Amino acid sequence: MNPKKIITRIAPSPTGQMHIGTVRTALFNYIFAKQHGGTYFVRIEDTDRERNKEEWVDAIWQDFEWCGLIPDQKYRQSEHIERHKELLKSLVASGKAYISKESKKDDPSKEVEVVRLKNPGTSITFDDLIRGSVTIDTTDLGDFVIARAIDDPLYHFAVVVDDGDAGVTHVLRAEEHISNTPRQILILEALGFERPTYAHFPLILAPDRTKLSKRKHGASIENYRAQGFIPEGMINYLAFLGWNPGTEEELFTLDELIEQFSIDKLQKSGAIFDETKMRWFNHEHLKKLSDDEFTQRLTAFAGKRPTPQYLGKIISLLRERSQTLGEALQAITDGEFAFMEDEVTYAPELLLQGAKVDASVAKQHLQKVLEILEALPHENFTAERAKEAVFPYATEQGRSGVLWPMRVALSGKEKSPDPFALCALLGKEKTLERIAQASHVL
Ligand code: GLU
Repeated sequence: MNPKKIITRIAPSPTGQMHIGTVRTALFNYIFAKQHGGTYFVRIEDTDRERNKEEWVDAIWQDFEWCGLIPDQKYRQSEHIERHKELLKSLVASGKAYISKESKKDDPSKEVEVVRLKNPGTSITFDDLIRGSVTIDTTDLGDFVIARAIDDPLYHFAVVVDDGDAGVTHVLRAEEHISNTPRQILILEALGFERPTYAHFPLILAPDRTKLSKRKHGASIENYRAQGFIPEGMINYLAFLGWNPGTEEELFTLDELIEQFSIDKLQKSGAIFDETKMRWFNHEHLKKLSDDEFTQRLTAFAGKRPTPQYLGKIISLLRERSQTLGEALQAITDGEFAFMEDEVTYAPELLLQGAKVDASVAKQHLQKVLEILEALPHENFTAERAKEAVFPYATEQGRSGVLWPMRVALSGKEKSPDPFALCALLGKEKTLERIAQASHVL
């Protein structure tokens, strides 16, 4: 007999920007399916007419695409409404559910005909890949309502029908759904579907141990994308929320996660979200991009804002210093890498700020540096050459007094790469021009 094909799913509701917890759930479903040669699909649960919006449906497709978690199939729950109604009717016909005439909850003068499931009232035990065997007594649920009317099935009923029809073998979802599981098992048994295996992932908590929220903590994928996180970094970090490989290794691509990740090694307790750590992961993945790839991503991220001509020259320094694309863009538009623009202006205080010498001494140093650099050949004006030439003088005279004014002269900024890197980036002509200009200001 062939082993059964593994089928997993992620079932987001289109009610707003995507929570990063949803991305993590999708990631684990994706990995689990790929590890077993199975399929993973997205079902958009769009039957709550009041809370859903069409724009969020589009956003869900785009978000999964951006993350690289491309589903094998995708559909919307609303496409199956007729099927839900059909199975509801057959359940009533079989006597496993019944129509119950009741007065309306919010208006007792009106009567409604809800559908209730005949609950056998037993304890349900299910296997959870993370929690092991879980037993829940379902007698308290009573004959719970599964439809507002015979043609208006409720959420749990629709989920069970959809999972059953799609042959979902593993329902892998966040812990907040664990209390739904017994109810859904009762419905699926009444319908005669085979029971899937379950796993309920630990919650993602904010540092104060409250549930990580989009509103309070900005935990949406949109927010992080806008800051310039890249999917590789986010995916890697999200995998570590509740899991680790048991080694020192931390950097994984999606393909490497498929090889190493193991769902039954997920911890049971809540995982604390640490943005600093996610930034670290993002930085590591940014550093792994080729120059071309980095340029492309930054250009796409910048949108209409132009990235400078000289980007190629500073790319490795820029990547070294930026944890996100947002930081990189800020650094070249008005931060520490904006020094290559044509014009720099100097505040005399800044030229002296870290120099610990007065203006006349700083001016003498700049003139000497100018002399030293002028003597170097135009070609091969590298950081090493500039350093070899200037460093002995700086060491003799006191480094801060020489190198601080020199660095500010070249960059015009309080923060920038070191003065020798700046020489190489600017080239000899511009280097001399700027040092002369700064010396004049002093
Ligand atoms: N629609 C549910 C949610 O957005 C998912 C339920 C499930 O995975 O069974 O949280």
